[in-house]
Amino acid sequence: MYIKSKLIYCFQILIFLSTIFANPNWDQVQIESVSLLQKYIQIDTSNPPGDVTKAINWLAELCEKNEISYQTFTVDKDPRRMHLLAEIKGRNSNLKPLLLLNHVDVVPADLDAWSTDPFGAEIKDGIIYGRGALDMKSLGMMQLISLILLNREGWVPDRTVKFLAVADEEILGEYGVQWMIENHWDLLDPEWVWDEGGIGSTDSFPGMDVFAIAVAQKKSFWVEVEVNGLSGHGSRPFDGYSNQVLATALSKIVNWETPIEINPVIEEMFYRIGDNKGGTEGFVMKNINNPIIHYLFSNKVSEKSTTVNAMLRNTISLTQINSGYKTNIIPEKANATLDIRLLPDTNPEDFLLDLERIVKDKRVNFTPKRIPSNNFISEWDNRFFNVVSKELYSRKPNAVVIPFMTIGGTDSQFFQEKGVDCYGIIPVLVDESDIQTMHGIDERISIENYMFGLQVVYNSIKKVCGKE
Ligand SMILES: [Zn+2]
Repeated sequence: MYIKSKLIYCFQILIFLSTIFANPNWDQVQIESVSLLQKYIQIDTSNPPGDVTKAINWLAELCEKNEISYQTFTVDKDPRRMHLLAEIKGRNSNLKPLLLLNHVDVVPADLDAWSTDPFGAEIKDGIIYGRGALDMKSLGMMQLISLILLNREGWVPDRTVKFLAVADEEILGEYGVQWMIENHWDLLDPEWVWDEGGIGSTDSFPGMDVFAIAVAQKKSFWVEVEVNGLSGHGSRPFDGYSNQVLATALSKIVNWETPIEINPVIEEMFYRIGDNKGGTEGFVMKNINNPIIHYLFSNKVSEKSTTVNAMLRNTISLTQINSGYKTNIIPEKANATLDIRLLPDTNPEDFLLDLERIVKDKRVNFTPKRIPSNNFISEWDNRFFNVVSKELYSRKPNAVVIPFMTIGGTDSQFFQEKGVDCYGIIPVLVDESDIQTMHGIDERISIENYMFGLQVVYNSIKKVCGKE
């Protein structure tokens, strides 16, 4: 009995030592990782045109060289759209995989506006410049390099880890992740998805470092508004011509203040920020859903920024107005398009009824052009969220980790439609001016942030997918 327990003890020490020595030499890893990110950025994957073949082949080569099992997929109808799925198989086939999701395409860059070549991946003062540096070739590399490092260690997880690099996210195209979900769901079917959508910020909430992990997103509901009537001469206007009816309807729509609705994510987010802030403002934030505080302060809170406002209500942007062809002719037809962004729990049909009620004019026809599926809010008290939060807290003890709702759309929405809990976080700590460079000019990431993120991703995968 004694010998046996001693043996077990020795064995435990051996396992402990092997995990210590198994940890990568991060200085060494940095040299390799920075060079990989530079090479990845240098492959121009601007969308449009969205040709990612070169980049996918490069990722495939990287997997090949590092003995990571992978497969690539080409979309028949448009062979410029390719995807790559790699994995480290887990021991327990009853556990659904963790899916590391990233997009290969980037938005185009205005060469003249940039101070460096957007596809040069130049390093200046420890900062890597290039399109995709934040959105999202850096997270893609953090994810794949973590797999490579873990594979080199001979690590065998309990839960399978999959890495999925896809085309077409920037145009939310049907040949992007939607195509993979429609055609190869059997290869995916994840427990959790780690995607973009949130980030760490030093100044989005003044006075504190906040890591926002996206657990929900607003959904795009695009609606055409049309009026058909009689045409006529510009010299003899008559009551109820199309432009007049449309203008009146649009005026009601753009002046409609949609009600503020604090959903559970926003409530939790405000609670955590308020708790850290303290004082009167903190108290208001912590209790934002209290009816009295809601009545007194919610409008004030919504006025803080357009982002906060968009988190609190369904929004409508009047984006296109089309009508007429000559100054002296009253056209018979007039239409406009609305970019409506709904909160996760708002039903598009109900919202359309609200719009009709606001406009109150039967001559105005509403036609939905894009109807979102109902998505949901991912849980934030589970193994995945807790491991990643702990990992962030262990490195930045004064930071606040919050669940968050993105106001734009990411590929996560297609997994959420399938009922999968998705989490969006690029684990770096940047300021608002850095965040502005995504889709803007001089997009960048510091090497320090990149290596911080890589270690967060590496450790989190190990803890999420290792033994419970
Ligand atoms: Zn992105």
